[in-house]
Amino acid sequence: MTDRMKINKVAVLGSGVMGAQIAAHFANAGVHVLVFDLDQKIVDEGIAKSLKLKPDPYYDRDVVNKITTLNYSAHLERLGECDWIIEAIAEKLELKVDLYNRIIPHIKKNTILTSNTSGISISQLIKEMDKEISKRFFITHFFNPPRYMKLVEIVSSNITDLNHLKFLKDFIENKLGKGTVDAKDTPNFIANRIGVYGMMLTINEALNSNISIEDVDAVTGTLIGRPKSATFRTADIVGLDTMTYVAKTAYDKCVDDSERDIFKNPKFLDRMIKNGWLGQKTKQGFYKKSDEGIIQSIDFDTLEYKNVNKKRYESIRVARENIKFEDRIKVLAYFDDKISSFFWSIISKTLLYTSHCADSISDNIVSIDRAMRWGFGWELGPFEIWDIIGLEKSVKKMKTSGIKLPSWIDKMLESSNFSFYKIINKNTHYWCFKKNRYKPILQDDKNLTFNFYKKQNNLINKHWSASMIDLDDGILGVELHSVLKAELNPIDGSIIETLMNSLNWVKNNKYKGIVISGDGINFSAGANLNLILNAICKKDWDGIDMLIKSMQNALQNLRFIDFPIVSAPYGLVLGGGYETIGATDKIIAAAESYIGLVEVGVGLIPGAGGNLRMISNLTNKIKSIVPGSFSICQNAFETIGFAKVATSSNRAMKMGYLREHDRIVINRMHLLSEAKKEVISMSLDYKPPKNEMFKLPGSSGRLVLEGTLKGFVKSGKISEHDAKIGKKLAYVLTGGSKGGPFSPVDEKYLLDIEREAFLSLCGEQKTKERIEYMLRNGKPLRN
Ligand code: NAD
Repeated sequence: MTDRMKINKVAVLGSGVMGAQIAAHFANAGVHVLVFDLDQKIVDEGIAKSLKLKPDPYYDRDVVNKITTLNYSAHLERLGECDWIIEAIAEKLELKVDLYNRIIPHIKKNTILTSNTSGISISQLIKEMDKEISKRFFITHFFNPPRYMKLVEIVSSNITDLNHLKFLKDFIENKLGKGTVDAKDTPNFIANRIGVYGMMLTINEALNSNISIEDVDAVTGTLIGRPKSATFRTADIVGLDTMTYVAKTAYDKCVDDSERDIFKNPKFLDRMIKNGWLGQKTKQGFYKKSDEGIIQSIDFDTLEYKNVNKKRYESIRVARENIKFEDRIKVLAYFDDKISSFFWSIISKTLLYTSHCADSISDNIVSIDRAMRWGFGWELGPFEIWDIIGLEKSVKKMKTSGIKLPSWIDKMLESSNFSFYKIINKNTHYWCFKKNRYKPILQDDKNLTFNFYKKQNNLINKHWSASMIDLDDGILGVELHSVLKAELNPIDGSIIETLMNSLNWVKNNKYKGIVISGDGINFSAGANLNLILNAICKKDWDGIDMLIKSMQNALQNLRFIDFPIVSAPYGLVLGGGYETIGATDKIIAAAESYIGLVEVGVGLIPGAGGNLRMISNLTNKIKSIVPGSFSICQNAFETIGFAKVATSSNRAMKMGYLREHDRIVINRMHLLSEAKKEVISMSLDYKPPKNEMFKLPGSSGRLVLEGTLKGFVKSGKISEHDAKIGKKLAYVLTGGSKGGPFSPVDEKYLLDIEREAFLSLCGEQKTKERIEYMLRNGKPLRN
């Protein structure tokens, strides 16, 4: 890497589906981006369209001011300002080559040029390109939607300048927060080759074994650690035309592929495409919503839509008894009923196909697993899944249907090596198919995980839902890992107890401070509602009061202890999850954090300091000189009252969930190392915060809020019960009976009235109904 390499400005060529969203993500990262298209109308419309897309490609609407829209006829010379130019135009070799010829005279020395092609070979793209430029040309294949998918496949040629390549990979990882994977120059590269094979195979097998669309999706989604959209809904989202286009590329170009026929469309799929039933974008595909709003799925034979009707299968029932998806996969792989046989068929064939392709698409199995995790949202890649179902055991079962293993797996087994990954001397190793031996996965100091430290024997104490782990350098880690719902981490007694124990442990062992985080998908989706509902049913009001009080006390202890505590949230950070991080000195949040105080949705208000934190944060943010400023209170009232969830950490900063001194980290994998660094630096001259006093608007402000509530009820915007909750919330936020512009209240008072309000709402029948509904349906009831 040379000192001169830097990326201040980027150009994106093309403002279609990918171009506009890639530009949006540069803007998210704070990078100035020039977007070009054929004419000004097209490019302006392209960006305007991206502002309406769901899921939102932007962290926050304001970032769009980093994007400048331009066209090739009038503005080509502005390419000279750019350090990286990424082409994302239509997938046609001649068009891409023509455009390169047109732009190359305008780019400056050292500018990197890359293509977002999904499957065109780099050797063809650079065939007639100037040698000097082609050294700085490679493929950077982003996945759709680029804000959310972590994967960027990198395909280089044998003349690519390695300094430029390394520099750009670092930029993509550190500044854009993505994960890069090196792929070989083969059709569809890694993720689409394996992923689309898996989808086409699943469609074929479903057809052969006469399994309905909804039943296939039931067994190929979250049950086995894949996205909720599973197979057919994913195809509808991607678009049947796009999916089959990628499949056709493999069919046309992988002529020696023994599984080539799988990439051919079954007849019914051709008919659907001919009818224009392309999925979500045409409002019907494998699924459609009937006029009455009922979800229907298509019948492969008749092409008629019927209401979805999931069958009950014993294997799925047994699999569901397991909390971890890894255990569910094991159940399904070796069960004996119709759906598990189907599952076995798709999983075993996908694993075999991947192992046969491996050497031709990648240098190692680690890249293949990462590509599938980061590009297709699988929790585990194919070789990791294979380890779960057991290589030796599964091969025995596969051999009953006369399969052939690739020679590198034969060699593995001959040398009595039965797993693709293995921990040797505390480090994870993978099986190298080139050398036929295990090789270590190099540990990047930025990509720390609790799991890494556990492998180093650093576990201090494992409780049900949280663990204490030594993160070295005098830092203690508290890892959240709920025993009941690992993917949501509801705050329970075990988490609170571990947090309390960790405070003592740090004191006794003279450590520097604590990091609170986790390795999973979500930091915490809130309190354990089951626990609260149980107590409500038993009318155990003292029990609820104690529960809330112990959480308030624990979090206040955390806040005022004399060493630094940093929380590192990611994914969902709701209710009690937010109250936990809100009490810490500093929040180092993943950019993709969805933070919100959502208690109103279940008929409650925040009970463990949420209101207090919001008032405190907004007081510091708005910095009004008027005592008891109403706007602070009103702001908090609207955010909590409407259970507003920030759709990114940038938004959370604006809404007051995050504070000015908190920090956003774009790469989720860097979160733990950044949080650890922060504790080390804060510990040098740490002073705990002081107990705050708040001047709040008091009864006059409360009257205004109550008036607003009445108006909302009248206009049908909220229900009577919403108004009742709103009134309690207004009482707390305006300072209860003691608070006013000239009678400040302290933290303890606010916590007491918040707890009282919480408790009284627990006694409401409609609140009970809201909690029950949420637990049953996973969404709020507005009663
Ligand atoms: P798109 O059809 O949405 O947009 C194509 C863009 O190319 C449009 O802005 C169009 O104006 C422009 N264009 C068309 N002809 C042109 C020409 N002759 N010169 C200059 N510009 C021209 O396509 P997309 O889905 O955004 O795909 C763009 C690239 O990204 C393709 O290479 C595609 O394979 C790749 N890709 C797509 C996806 C996806 O999910 N859509 C995912 C990864 C990669």
